[in-house]
Amino acid sequence: MLVATMLHLYSFIPILLSYGVLGMPRLENKDKMSSMDQKYAEDYLNNFYTTTNKAKNTFVDRIKEMQKFFGMKITGSLNRETMTMMKTPRCGMPDVAEFRAFPGRPKWPQNSLTYRIVNFTPDLPRAVVEDAIQRALNVWSQVTPLRFSKLTSGAADIVIQFSPRSHGDRSPFDGPNGVLAHAYGPSTGIGGDAHFDEDERWTNNRAGFNLFLVAAHEFGHSLGLDHSNDPAALMFPTYRYVNTDNFRLSQDDVNGIQSLYGRRRK
Ligand SMILES: [Zn+2]
Ligand SMILES: [Zn+2]
Repeated sequence: MLVATMLHLYSFIPILLSYGVLGMPRLENKDKMSSMDQKYAEDYLNNFYTTTNKAKNTFVDRIKEMQKFFGMKITGSLNRETMTMMKTPRCGMPDVAEFRAFPGRPKWPQNSLTYRIVNFTPDLPRAVVEDAIQRALNVWSQVTPLRFSKLTSGAADIVIQFSPRSHGDRSPFDGPNGVLAHAYGPSTGIGGDAHFDEDERWTNNRAGFNLFLVAAHEFGHSLGLDHSNDPAALMFPTYRYVNTDNFRLSQDDVNGIQSLYGRRRK
């Protein structure tokens, strides 16, 4: 058996080597980044990979941190694969941030939460937006004791709004693509609120960006979850369309939310 395996391996090695030798110089040329890409990368790292640890805060360190998070080859260089990931539409919340260093995670003290949609995207009929938001909250209430009730006026725990560019917090949106939305973790005031970039095309299908999928992700933050590095998780930071019929959370998402609020009571 061992011999057979070895032979099998050897037969592959020449192919791999020749690919490496022929492939490398072209790859290096393609990997040369423009100064615009360099600036884009620096902004990306400042937004999503911040740390107060001065010893691990160089450009290379933070590229490595990002490559590690996304399960890419850790090179510390701004190669094509890394640049492609940086340009993938995503959530505006950080993947690695200084606040993660604080012990304990914020959660809502009560299981009954209120939400309010303060304005509507013109991309979809109102009823479709309301349905998408309600289904996105249901994703989390299905596996926890959490309950959500809708308010049409007054102060709600989770305030939902659609806005382009600057919209009253310190995190302006960036136009089409890039950052799609962001949401604040449990606390009073802006805590729990979810903001959607109105410069995106919001849909209830696979075109543009599916509002239900993005909202379900953002509400994970509203409830106290950080980004997951599990590509199957809803809390993975980049957008990926999946069939929304009978949508189910990944085990990683379920474990995360139940560690904060426990299981749904029978
Ligand atoms: Zn997010
Ligand atoms: Zn905002």
